[in-house]
Amino acid sequence: PVAKSATVHTKVHGKHGDFAIEAKGLVKRFKSGKGYVEVLKGVDFDARHGDLTMVMGPSGSGKSTLIAALSGLLKPEEGRVDCLDVDDLWKLSNGKIDKFRLDHCGFIFQGFNLFPALTALQQVTTVLKFQGLSPGAAKKRATEALAEVGLGHRLNQRPSALSGGEKQRVAIARALAKDPKILFADEPTSALDGENGQVVIRLLRRAATEHGAAVICVTHDPRLEAWADRVIKIEDGIIASDERRIPDPTATLASH
Ligand code: ADP
Ligand code: MG
Repeated sequence: PVAKSATVHTKVHGKHGDFAIEAKGLVKRFKSGKGYVEVLKGVDFDARHGDLTMVMGPSGSGKSTLIAALSGLLKPEEGRVDCLDVDDLWKLSNGKIDKFRLDHCGFIFQGFNLFPALTALQQVTTVLKFQGLSPGAAKKRATEALAEVGLGHRLNQRPSALSGGEKQRVAIARALAKDPKILFADEPTSALDGENGQVVIRLLRRAATEHGAAVICVTHDPRLEAWADRVIKIEDGIIASDERRIPDPTATLASH
């Protein structure tokens, strides 16, 4: 039987209905010596609004490349990506692809990717102002987003004064402040201990359940499966398995 988590969001979805992303036949090759190495070998992929979709696979299997192809960062040689109201993302101009990403996608990376010179608050307001919010509105929204990840008391700290777990929570606040329809997380817990990893994966779970985002989380840590609605395994550039499951939001990541 197909397991479907109870979602509480009331988003108006794009023309692809429950699907935030539907991709078909993605092929990505990189130049290697005299020839090419095929990293994605004809991948079909989809992800639903409100789902935490976990993409698992060993290092080098093509997970980060898949996220890049789905989010308009790295053009595949073959295949198409339909997302939200866009048919065939890669047919758009570069400017429109960038605009799509800015308007609708959030990103979280293993290495946090914060600006060293900016405070936690500025990390978030900068993105919101870039999106067109007034300084006042950006500050209000950023303060809320940081409070939501439990950093209401750390607004004026720069990354050098924050722990790894706090840095990743800033990155999550920055990604969620614009209420993205799609949230990409690439190994978001890999640099964190169990306790902080658990805080992060629970926040991603909430982004799916409470905000209705399609959360696509790439990881090689099988323990994160517990929080997923769906687990897709990728091996050597092909989808090896794809299963729905019932998430356990109370699961714990034992420290190791
Ligand atoms: P994963 O995220 O699953 O660890 P990646 O998608 O990063 O895997 O990489 C898959 C394969 O593609 C690896 O062998 C990697 O070395 C290769 N690769 C990734 N990006 C590039 C690039 N820009 N140029 C050449 N090879 C690359
Ligand atoms: Mg990777």
